[in-house]
Order: sequence, then C-alpha cells, then structure tokens
Amino acid sequence: MRGIGPTCIALAALVGLSADVAHAWPAPERHPPTMRGFRLEAVDWEFLPVDVGERHFRVVAFDGHVHSDISRDALHPISELMWLAERKDLDLLVLTDHGSSAARGYLESRYDGPVQTLLGEEVGGSFGHSVIWDIRSHHGIGVAAGQGMEALGALVHGQGGTVVLAHPGWWIGRNTWDPRRWMQYDALRRGGIGDEIDALELWNQVYWERSRELIDEWVGLLERGLYVPIVGDSDFHRASSHRLGDPRNAMLCPSDARGTITETARVCLHEAVPMGRLYVTDGPSIDLQIAGRVPGEIVEAIGGSRLAGEVRARAAEGGTLEVFVGREVVERVTLAPGLDVSHRFTVAVPREDSFVRVEIQRPSVPDDRPPFSLLTNPVRIDVLPRRTDGWRGPDEGPIPGPPGFRQEDVSRPERERAQRRVDLHPEAEDR
Ligand SMILES: [Zn+2]
Ligand SMILES: [Zn+2]
Repeated sequence: MRGIGPTCIALAALVGLSADVAHAWPAPERHPPTMRGFRLEAVDWEFLPVDVGERHFRVVAFDGHVHSDISRDALHPISELMWLAERKDLDLLVLTDHGSSAARGYLESRYDGPVQTLLGEEVGGSFGHSVIWDIRSHHGIGVAAGQGMEALGALVHGQGGTVVLAHPGWWIGRNTWDPRRWMQYDALRRGGIGDEIDALELWNQVYWERSRELIDEWVGLLERGLYVPIVGDSDFHRASSHRLGDPRNAMLCPSDARGTITETARVCLHEAVPMGRLYVTDGPSIDLQIAGRVPGEIVEAIGGSRLAGEVRARAAEGGTLEVFVGREVVERVTLAPGLDVSHRFTVAVPREDSFVRVEIQRPSVPDDRPPFSLLTNPVRIDVLPRRTDGWRGPDEGPIPGPPGFRQEDVSRPERERAQRRVDLHPEAEDR
C-alpha cells in the first residue's frame, strides 16, 4: 500500500499550493516545484519469483545512485525523490549525494512511506568515483577517499557498508580516457584497489554509451578469475533529464515458500551485492538457474560434463534473450512482448573455469539507452579438477589511451592531478 502523505505534498507542491495543507512532510526546502510536466503515472513493476527446490527468492528492487538537492548539481529535495521512488515502484533507494551524508536527518525523522532507504555518498579519488552504501558516519570519508580506495574501503567496510566503483572511467568532464582503464585486471589489483571494490556500476543511465566495452572488459576479468559483480543505477539528478530507478537492481532476497521475504532489505543488500545475486534491468524480469544455482552462485562441475540450465523471462517490449558461456552465445530465445517465456538447455562444461550469464537485447534501440535491457551477474562454473599451474586467463592486451598517452601516465600522481581538476569543476558530474 502506498503512503498518502508524500503524494499529497508532492501534488500540492506541483500545483503550487501552500505546504500547510499537507501533513507530515515539509515543503521542498531549497528549490521551487520542479517536476511540472513530468509524467505522473505510477508504474507497477512485477518481477518473476525465483524458486530453486527448497530455496525461494523474491526480488527487492533498488536504485543505488541517486542525488538530492544536497548535491550542488542536482535539483530535487528528498521529499520529491521519495515521492518519485514510490511512483516508480522501487523497494529501496540509496541516497548518494556528493561528499555528503546530510540526508540522514531527513530520512530518520521525516519519511515513513513504503520505500526503504539507505544512506550513502558519492566520493571521488584516484579510483574515479565510488558510491558507498549504508554508511553510519560521514566522519573521515573524504580524507580516506583522498588516500585511495584501500583506505576508503577499509573505512566503509569497517562500518559494515558496501563499496561500488561508479561509472568506471567516466568521472572527468571532457574525459577522453578509455573507461576500461579503471577496471582492468591490473588496475583493480594495483594498490589493493580490487580487493576493496564490492561491485562495478557497469550500467549507469547517464554514461551508457561505452557499456559494451565495459562489459567486454568485465568478461575479461571473469576469464582471468577476478570476479567483481555488476550493478546498475540511474545516477539521478533531475526529473527533466534523468529517470529514477532506470536501470534498477533486482536483487534476490530469501523468502519463505509463500513468497514473504525473510530478511530486511539492508541485510539482503550486504549479502546479495558482494556475491552478485542480482540482475540489472530497465524493464524485463528473469529467473536464470544453472544446475540449481542462481546468478552470483557457483556450480562445481567436471570439465567435459553437461549442466542443466533453465531460464524464464518476461519483457514488456519483447526482445532476444542470449545465454553466454564465457564470451560465446550458446542459446538465443525470442521473447514475445509481455509473455512469459521458458526455455531449458544444457551447458557443456569447458576445461577451464567459466561462467554463464544472460543479456536481453531490445527489439529496437532508442537513442538514449544501451542495446540491452537486462544484464545478469554470472553463475560461475568451478571446473574440476582445478588447475594448479597459476594460469590466470588470456592476456588483456593494451588499452589505447588518447593521442599522446603513455602507459606510465596511469600512475597515481597523474590520476591525483586529474582528480584535482574534478574538485575544481564538480559540475563535470552533471551532464
Ligand atoms: Zn559520479
Ligand atoms: Zn552521481
């Protein structure tokens, strides 16, 4: 059931009524009503349940990268964000203002609607941008971010929080550096960076043009045995140019046999995100199982054997579902618009560790979205017997930089100089 209060106040704000007529929520504090002309229909999202024998999961949908007007480059007060989140049928919102956790007071004292919230922040450093989720205290975060991912990760994880590398590579206005640089095997490993990153925000609504290259690079990491799960977020700044909850993370949370979720969204998030028990979508829903394992989980199998796979999916617009084993598409399934499609298949287990994942490709590609409408994290295949010779997958090959770029320019001082440019031009984030 939806809360009445937020809708009242937001509608009151939209038609220019005094906030006095509404209750519980204050009027937008720093900006005038800003969502005039915004489409107001509520959207109902339905996600397929995931039942694996005796194990049951239900989807909790969240947007983990959202700016309120506490961020200098964003427009809407939190009251309007929460109102939007309800209409977008989000279960959970993580507020990630730039370098600030000032949303805390508001969330604790003024919102009691159906959308759960977690406090986060977006911070910059030599690693680019990171969104940190569920932090207890802002104290020391800016300093730690300035010291690097290792320090930031230690601080956030010490508070029980989660660290996500945001829109890898796209953190500088007029940036010409290839975004893959920030998520190459060596970059993630350098200085302990990789160890502290719980997830990669591989699909960001604003920075989607290079998604295919980022996916290729991410698959390269998987091939080399470095698994960092993916998430996707809106990076919402204003309703006129951003769509809240699009894409969103559909995380699988344990439920009882009747479908009642048995743990809080916060507990589920800290379990599901680091293991990748989620898929990212801007519409379709999926239930992917490989030998009784869901995305984020591991199957042990003998090389050369076969595993049973099953996928169900639903996409309002239809599309083509592709099952990947490694880099290869092994199954293609046509999705009729709005219909549940179920498909069984088998996976030939390779001789090396591998992974199975799904993408859904759109029937036609609009100007403002990537060609895919859904990405899953992988079900990983741990191939037995295990290798003992230290092989770590195929070489990545060099990533070309901009003209005149030299490999040694990726050094930490260089990146810190670049970061100072960002600090001087924070509006670079708002494009
Ligand atoms: Zn950013
Ligand atoms: Zn952002």
